[in-house]
Amino acid sequence: MNPRRQFLTSLGATTLSLSLRHVSLGQDQSETMKIALLSDTHLHAEPSHEYRSFRPYDNLVQASKEVLASDAQFALLCGDAARLEGKKEDYVQLKKLLEPILSKMKMEIALGNHDDRANFWTVFNNRPIDKTLSGKKHVSVADLGPQRWIVLDSLMYVDKTPGFLGQEQRDWLDKLLGSDLTRPVVLMVHHTLGQRDGDLLDTERLLAIANKHPIVKAIVFGHSHQWRIEQREKLWLINLPALGYNFADNQPIGWVKAELRSSELVLTLSAIGGNKTEHDKTQTFKWLT
Ligand SMILES: [Zn+2]
Repeated sequence: MNPRRQFLTSLGATTLSLSLRHVSLGQDQSETMKIALLSDTHLHAEPSHEYRSFRPYDNLVQASKEVLASDAQFALLCGDAARLEGKKEDYVQLKKLLEPILSKMKMEIALGNHDDRANFWTVFNNRPIDKTLSGKKHVSVADLGPQRWIVLDSLMYVDKTPGFLGQEQRDWLDKLLGSDLTRPVVLMVHHTLGQRDGDLLDTERLLAIANKHPIVKAIVFGHSHQWRIEQREKLWLINLPALGYNFADNQPIGWVKAELRSSELVLTLSAIGGNKTEHDKTQTFKWLT
């Protein structure tokens, strides 16, 4: 039995067609783990491609340098990795630009509505950590010192705005959350949580699962290209800024440094463009009880 099958079986989920990776870093749960959070890179194969006067290529080069210069031990990209249609050549370029990061640390990439799962897998399945890619959804579990991060797959249609997890993935998550109560959980999903047509269409069902398991402390997402954090019942909802371009001048573009602790999440914005007034601002989010 291969490790993936073994892990799925241990969750009692042998019929799922999820592509699951399980990353484990830092055994000491009392220590702080530092990670880099990127979202909405919207990388086009052509480096000179611009949108709203932003160059996603240049932004990723800049952010990559900063991530490497930081003490991040792990990186996450919260979807919309590719410009619009998740073309293979976009991912080839993305992989090239991420190479310095990938050679230093592990990284997980969530898929958004401007990604194409098959193209993504074709280009990225040679990454050393990609040993179990198959199935219909791209999810991963990362045990990062004091916290567990679960990366979900909300890609429903390529290049159409809404997202959807679906019952199979929600059931899998529900079961997973009930099986390991040892460390606080942060969920990552590309789509915004809301009721609009372009949000995650099963938002309420995801929130019901998160609220059922008090071990879930925060949900991190992208999609809106807005840097915004709010509280909803006992959850922190963290909307990451886009790295590729913003949709409104009052929003930063950049990435977020995260310090993971057993009782809180500490976030520092690195704004590299757009509205930089919150650059280097650090905010601490203690778990809500
Ligand atoms: Zn986007």
